[in-house]
Amino acid sequence: MNDSQQDSTTPIVTLEKVNKYFGSLHVMQDIDLEIAAGEVVVIVGASGSGKSTLIRCVNGLEEFQSGRIVVDGNELTPYGKGGKSLQTIRTEVGMVFQQFNLFPHLSVHANVTLAPVKVRGLNNTKAREIADRLLERVGITDQADKYPSQLSGGQQQRVALARALAMEPRLMLFDEPTSALDPEMIGEVLDAMRELANEGMTMMIVTHEMGFAREVADRVIFVHDGRIVEQGSPQEVFDRPQHERTQAFLSRVL
Ligand code: ADP
Ligand code: MG
Repeated sequence: MNDSQQDSTTPIVTLEKVNKYFGSLHVMQDIDLEIAAGEVVVIVGASGSGKSTLIRCVNGLEEFQSGRIVVDGNELTPYGKGGKSLQTIRTEVGMVFQQFNLFPHLSVHANVTLAPVKVRGLNNTKAREIADRLLERVGITDQADKYPSQLSGGQQQRVALARALAMEPRLMLFDEPTSALDPEMIGEVLDAMRELANEGMTMMIVTHEMGFAREVADRVIFVHDGRIVEQGSPQEVFDRPQHERTQAFLSRVL
């Protein structure tokens, strides 16, 4: 980490003129974006507008073709040539996906302790302590010895959150974390995310939960066809959208 070189005004995430193509499809077009420490940014936009691609680029899950991405002082260069930076970024950035992606053959507890032991090199006792604390925090303590398939979707997603937090990330990325959940389970996952936001975690969240976005977002970014078309406070973007694309999108989802 490069904490010593950074002060509180240094963004945690910087994208400069980032362009990405899938073949001839230009999915990120000159994206400029800075995210401050502790900021909660919600990304909205129609299906296919490039939201997932944007956040996947931030932790090096997708290559890009031009521009630069810097995450907590670690630079990712085009075409995935991140080298050591890429490895560092992956340990510093936690991600929660729409599909929970838990390891099916491991208990809930083992899902949470695996990476801290294997990647961070913690001893088992320390990793257990962290897992116990995080599972309690997301309200899963009594399920710790079960396997993922024995849990509800909402419980699995809370385990996925605990697993990501066990790496003590500097930044958390969420890609539609509640889209695969039955309606009655959405609230429990959003509650856990809201708590994390209140604790000061830096978060980039793709979601269609507009009420949640309005409540927790410091900034809402509207993406259309690979471009950031409009951004601002939730009030600015949701109540007074300036761009016709934003207006059309909101009229469909609100
Ligand atoms: P969103 O998350 O906003 O729905 P995505 O970032 O997933 O959008 O996708 C943006 C565009 O890129 C879409 O047109 C999608 O079909 C395309 N796309 C996404 N992933 C790939 C891929 N691996 N190969 C080719 N095209 C892709
Ligand atoms: Mg997506």
